[in-house]
Amino acid sequence: MEHSADFEARWAAGAAYLDGRFMPVGEAAIPVTDFGYRRSDVVYDVVGVWDGAFFRLDDHIARFRASMTALRLEPRETDEEIRAILHRVVATAGLRAAYVAMDCLRGVPSPGMPRHPAWARNYLMCFAVPWVSVASAEQMERGLHLVIAKEVRRIPPESVEPRVKNFHWGDLTRGLFEAQDAGADFAVLLDAEGNITEGPGFNVFMVKDGHVSTPARGGLDGITRDSVFELCAEMGYPAEARAIPAIEFTEADEIFACTTAGGIMPASRIEGRRMANDRPGPISTALRDAFWRRRSEGWHATPVDYGAAAT
Ligand code: PLP
Repeated sequence: MEHSADFEARWAAGAAYLDGRFMPVGEAAIPVTDFGYRRSDVVYDVVGVWDGAFFRLDDHIARFRASMTALRLEPRETDEEIRAILHRVVATAGLRAAYVAMDCLRGVPSPGMPRHPAWARNYLMCFAVPWVSVASAEQMERGLHLVIAKEVRRIPPESVEPRVKNFHWGDLTRGLFEAQDAGADFAVLLDAEGNITEGPGFNVFMVKDGHVSTPARGGLDGITRDSVFELCAEMGYPAEARAIPAIEFTEADEIFACTTAGGIMPASRIEGRRMANDRPGPISTALRDAFWRRRSEGWHATPVDYGAAAT
């Protein structure tokens, strides 16, 4: 559909859905009294759109629903309605490559009721903005420089379950500053036992003697991580999820991060040590290239319904 220049200017930065209404992303605002803001009482998910198609859309909606259920969040929208909303925000913003977020907020405490989350009306906020990557183009090209955080550990699953995608980012944020102080890009966090968990917005894998492994617990069950396992099976690399002690990780032949917002992102340094001649390693590179090739072939793709745009 053809739109006027005025329409396109309003929506070019992105489109949002907030509790029943669609609007340009810059106009979406939540009440400052919302538990979602004051207590980080929010679960979320992020799905990518590339070449006009969602990647693993149903998997993201299913994980989002599981996160909501785990924290007793019940918005009024069904999964089918969430799917339609996501198509509509991407279509309205007219994006072929997009970062598409879905959040469920606890809501505002009800006046006169106990100040308990059970009394708040939960609601959804979704938006589509132009594609965002966790790492810059330069970081991805040269390989990420990673450190293992020393001052902060990943919050234990017994306290905040990292498999529930949530807004408790305090530990990951501290790790980002620790990495910056160390002259690195990102910090990977350990659990209480000293095993590797994940980084700010990504899962990690290591490669040793051709064998690919990722932490079994302590992090999000990433959907890109699932895709890495599929690619390893297709390409004949043995792969497993297991406990990875910090020392093993720092002695890896190769390391890569993976996430919706960036895909497979090889690292070239860990704790200042250069891996694979300070370049993305061969298995990480082969997996990254296969990931984007398979996606361009329509792997797990759901074409965006551009006819669903708001008019
Ligand atoms: N770990 C954390 C903490 C994340 O926030 C994310 C994604 O945003 C991931 C891992 C990767 O998950 P996915 O591949 O499903 O995007």
